[in-house]
Amino acid sequence: MKGWTRYGWVVLIAVIFQNCTDSQASNKQKLSDMNSEKKDNNPVYSRSDSSQVNLSDDQWKKILPNDVYNIARQKGTERPWTSKYEGSHEIGTYYCAVCGNPLFRSDTKFESGCGWPSFYEPISKTSIIYAQDNSYGMERNEVICGRCKSHLGHVFNDGPPPTGLRYCINGVVLDFEKAKDAEKRYDAENQKHS
Ligand SMILES: [Zn+2]
Repeated sequence: MKGWTRYGWVVLIAVIFQNCTDSQASNKQKLSDMNSEKKDNNPVYSRSDSSQVNLSDDQWKKILPNDVYNIARQKGTERPWTSKYEGSHEIGTYYCAVCGNPLFRSDTKFESGCGWPSFYEPISKTSIIYAQDNSYGMERNEVICGRCKSHLGHVFNDGPPPTGLRYCINGVVLDFEKAKDAEKRYDAENQKHS
């Protein structure tokens, strides 16, 4: 009798554990769905596919949220100091919010004081492309996503070393993903020093 009771407990615990891991897995799934919420209607969004994306303006309008569409496809500019990424020091990678193309690493981000997220170097030579922008009577170098050709912002020659460049980017067209390992290392370092 005792043996059966013990066996029953083992089975019960196994069943509970199974349900628990199942629900954790589905929670994780939900979480990742939440993170990619604004891409639900965006079939071209991918952080691993680097193939070029060419959609018509009508197609972009259908799949992008209004604020993203306005900046990315209409070359709009967000109001300064409105991006949550402007003063962010979190460690991770910034992606194009339109197509998922990796654009900048957090270690190339700096406080420019200009009101927009600023970086001194893109993640790779092909991640962004450049165009001359003479709008508003200014001569500026426009920064465009290398994968989907969306407008991201501008680059100026008054940045810090080693590049001396300041990539001034609209936060609306950026997605950020925290680097979990880097974050843990950073926390461990901070604990050591405190
Ligand atoms: Zn893009």
